[in-house]
Amino acid sequence: MPAGSGSVSRRRAASHRKTDVGFVLDTRSLGRRPGTMREQQRTVTTAEKIGLDLIYIPEGAEVELDLQLQAVSEGVLVTGTVIAPTAGECSRCLEPFTGEVRLHLTELFAYPDSTTEQTTEDDEIYRMDDDLIDLEPVVVDAIGLELPLQPLCTPDCAGLCPECGVRMAIAGSDHGHEILDPRWAGLAKFANESPGNGSPDADADPER
Ligand SMILES: [Zn+2]
Ligand SMILES: [Zn+2]
Repeated sequence: MPAGSGSVSRRRAASHRKTDVGFVLDTRSLGRRPGTMREQQRTVTTAEKIGLDLIYIPEGAEVELDLQLQAVSEGVLVTGTVIAPTAGECSRCLEPFTGEVRLHLTELFAYPDSTTEQTTEDDEIYRMDDDLIDLEPVVVDAIGLELPLQPLCTPDCAGLCPECGVRMAIAGSDHGHEILDPRWAGLAKFANESPGNGSPDADADPER
């Protein structure tokens, strides 16, 4: 690799932007001999929320990486689990709730100038940036597939009362509304206006 000062400063600028912190993993200690493996455990604090509108990993959440990095001929294969807390809003009862999501990753990061890098699109196979792997787009993509589009606070959430909007979990199972069928409502009116229904005469229509 050329060691000109321009190259060095460019590399410094790049490493200032991306270093071995957060979701970015430095693979230099792994080397490139195929078959070499390294365990990588790390807790990453998210800089921004990751996920969907109704359910996501919140900003400032602690994401646990438990990974294995393996050098293969075309790049580095990353396998393992990512565990993160989630927050969201129930799509049925609209209450906020928290949970946990667990991702299982198996991703190849292609070496720069590898055959894989040259013969695939960058939205097909992730690329390494020099010796660095950025896991953030992997987590963002995987979480988007893993999280439910219509999250529920509990699997059997009873939702909201369709009549008054109260949350059924608070209202209780005997919550309900006496809704008169329009046909019966007409009969009830007739009954009230008929003589002999027990109403005081003072309430009766004077014309009757
Ligand atoms: Zn709910
Ligand atoms: Zn109700």
